[in-house]
Amino acid sequence: MVKIHFLGGCREVGRNAFLIDSKKRLMLDYGMHVEDQGRPLMPKGKVDYCFMSHGHLDHLGSSAILQKHKGSVFFGTAPTIDFTDLLLRDSLKIARIEGIEAGFNQADVQKLLRTYEKVEYDDDFKLGGYNIKIYKAGHIPGAMMVEMVVDGKKILYTGDFKTNPSRLVDGAEYDGSEIDALIMENTYATREQPPREKSEKEFVKVIKETCDKGGIALLPSFAIRAPEILMILDKYKMNYPIYVDGMAKAATKISLKHPKFVKDHIALKKATDAAISLEELEDRNKALKEPGIIVTTSGAMEGGPVVHYMKHLYARKDCSLVFTGYQIPGTASRYLADTGRFIVGPIDFKVKMNIHSFSFSAHADRKELIKFIQKVRPKKCFMIHGDYSTKFATEIKGRFGIDAAAPRAGDAIDI
Ligand SMILES: [Zn+2]
Repeated sequence: MVKIHFLGGCREVGRNAFLIDSKKRLMLDYGMHVEDQGRPLMPKGKVDYCFMSHGHLDHLGSSAILQKHKGSVFFGTAPTIDFTDLLLRDSLKIARIEGIEAGFNQADVQKLLRTYEKVEYDDDFKLGGYNIKIYKAGHIPGAMMVEMVVDGKKILYTGDFKTNPSRLVDGAEYDGSEIDALIMENTYATREQPPREKSEKEFVKVIKETCDKGGIALLPSFAIRAPEILMILDKYKMNYPIYVDGMAKAATKISLKHPKFVKDHIALKKATDAAISLEELEDRNKALKEPGIIVTTSGAMEGGPVVHYMKHLYARKDCSLVFTGYQIPGTASRYLADTGRFIVGPIDFKVKMNIHSFSFSAHADRKELIKFIQKVRPKKCFMIHGDYSTKFATEIKGRFGIDAAAPRAGDAIDI
């Protein structure tokens, strides 16, 4: 008998955690809520293995806690292991600054990294009664889907995925069939994305116009998104300096370090070489004196160098604030996008900059999600990692007759 325990990432975006319970117990992701450090439920009993779908905090943010309590062996691709190192260290730094108890320390992170076993796309292996297959998921460098066959049941976990390619990575490549249970993210269940080429052109136009008028375009970015933004800017030849700051620098280096996990390594290298890395306050202030483009963390605008830039730019009508992806509810960037006010700690600015929002999402949009379900035609489909999981499950059930559901955290379902 196979049971799936839903421990987090249920009817919400964030803190993904799903436990496959058979003779051996296998965890799929163990994340956190980025905005409030919320953790998934801790399962009772042992957890033998943990597969990390990709290097985002909402998927790996609590992995060091799981390893510490359960001693699980972790599996992930080479970029995911590097992103784990980068993001967990940063997470510890933030917890220290905010006086929050992280639940793990630097030594736990080191121990976690030592237990990691590297996997590659198209790997096919046996593990404690499971047959495991690893597939490319699109999304970000190193993101994987995990297919498991155990006790005669086939389960596919998509992690976060995108079937259409982006500038940075190829689309997902899943070619399996006869799935008993599909555990699928549905972040963009309600939204269709405009053709990327069109968005890119509008994005570049807004930035160019800002710089032509003598202003600065500030692009708050999640670290791991930065390489793709740099590639778009490089492709359209901006003629103004492009700066990159904060954790975006380290994340770009990780993407560069793993050529086989990116679509066009030469284009990424060219875009990265063309960007100027900012380290010192003096250089940051110099960058603020002339028209230019600044790509910086944090994407949620809760901290990082972006706060420094906002202090200098918020009142400047000739400057632009350009969002490039999904703004997580509850964060400073979302509040700003909705209200025009930038509020972090004691800071409360009425922002006079021009605010523009673009969506270079790394997630499958509504059309891609539906197409994927129609292709895979699972017997059961569990909608996870979405704000509209319940409604989307109802729609899929009604339209395609597939047994779809949106479990709650704490549910355990036999398949
Ligand atoms: Zn993700």
